[in-house]
Order: sequence, then structure tokens, then C-alpha cells
Amino acid sequence: MSVSFIYVFRIQEKYQYKLSQFVHVIYRVGLKVDSTSPNYLRLALRIVNIKSLVPYKTSQIERVTFPMPSDTIAVEKKKLKNPPLQLHYLGDRALRQPAKRITKIDEEVRKLARQMLQTMYSSDGIGLAAPQVGVNKQLIVIDLEIDKPNIPPLVLINPTIKQTSQEICLAQEGCLSIPNVYMDVKRPEKVEIAYKDEYGRPKTLKADGLLARCILHEMDHLNGVVFVDRVENSLALAQELSKNGFSQQAVKPIV
Ligand SMILES: [Zn+2]
Repeated sequence: MSVSFIYVFRIQEKYQYKLSQFVHVIYRVGLKVDSTSPNYLRLALRIVNIKSLVPYKTSQIERVTFPMPSDTIAVEKKKLKNPPLQLHYLGDRALRQPAKRITKIDEEVRKLARQMLQTMYSSDGIGLAAPQVGVNKQLIVIDLEIDKPNIPPLVLINPTIKQTSQEICLAQEGCLSIPNVYMDVKRPEKVEIAYKDEYGRPKTLKADGLLARCILHEMDHLNGVVFVDRVENSLALAQELSKNGFSQQAVKPIV
């Protein structure tokens, strides 16, 4: 296992997921990975049905190219001592600016998404929007399965709401930009969105429950809205905010 990961980290960043996925695939189908065998990469390539088998010697791995972009972005789901990005907190102007559409979805955007994921995992979050790290772009990362290393996160670029349900539900929310403040917020039970993934592929998604709530919460961030703006119990909110060192002046209630 450890040797496999040395392979993974030695290669260029853009192939990292692909190779780590192969390693996962091997583990999933229960084949033994013999790290001393040069065949392990070849085996993995065959399993995921990629025809162009190329070099498998360590010295050549950097020259491996793949015909398809990987399906998603993967970073290790763990806490880092020094997360790559800094969170911005309630009261910071960065949280109040509407985010701009991303016109070119390239490696730079994917790098930002990976760094956002690392920052999010480091704070035990399940969602993070770019304005929360001071980046004025329509980019969101979500992962409701932070304990499951093989389930890829969701990356939403330029998301738009196609539809929301009539049913509204009330549930507690928190936000990495307002630590320790948890309050009830009303939101539509279901949402349907259109967005682009991290490779620019157009997608749609129908969500309900926690995922719908999380998407709507993060999409609010792209519009300069934070969940406390939607809290109806302003008295309780004022108490919670002051208890945690936030000013109530930073709230912009939505009427
Ligand atoms: Zn938030």
C-alpha cells in the first residue's frame, strides 16, 4: 500500500486521481497489489478498461497519458495542520460580494477546488463556497461522505437553480464562516440544479434532504447571502452570535 502511494504522489498532479483511483479499484476487486511487481499498473489499467497501456516502470510513469479526463477530483479526506486556504468569517466583505461566473474551467480551477476540499475537510465541513476563502468565483465543493475515502466529492461550477419544491422544511444549519453558531433555517425540501463539473461538463442534479439544504446554503454564498440572514428567530440569533464573538450588524436579514 505505502509503495503504491509513492507512485501516486510522484506523478504529475493532473494524473493523480486517475492513478489513485486505479489503486482503489484494485483494492475493491480484492486483487493483491504487489508493489514490487511492475504489473500492478497494467492490471489496474485493464480493469478500468483503458486500452492504451503505456509504460509502467517507475521512471516512465510521468509520461503516462490518459485518453479521458478523470471523473472527479480526489484529495485525501483528512485534517491538515496548515490548510491551503484561509477561511473568511461573518463580518468580512468577501462574504457579501456576488461571485462571478467561471468562464474557463482549467487546471487552475481544479487546483482551487482541491484546495477548497482540503480546507473544508480540515474544518470538518460538508460544503464550502469560494467566497468563503476570499475567491470571488462561482465554485462550490460539497461532500456529505467525509468518512468514506472512496466516495468522490461534488464540485459545482456556475450552478443555477432550475426548480425548487413547494414543500419547505426547517432544519438546523451551521457554516464554516460562522463557527459554533447553529440555527434553524427554512428551505425548500427539494432542489434541481444545473451546473458544470470540474471538467466543464454540463450536468443536472435533483437533490433532497441534507444535500438539497447544503446546495442551497452554498449557492446563497455565491449571492453574498449567509444562512444567518434567513434565521427568523432574531432574538435567539443575536444571543448565539454575541456568544461566539460575532456582531449582529453583520447580518442582513432577508425579508
Ligand atoms: Zn456557509
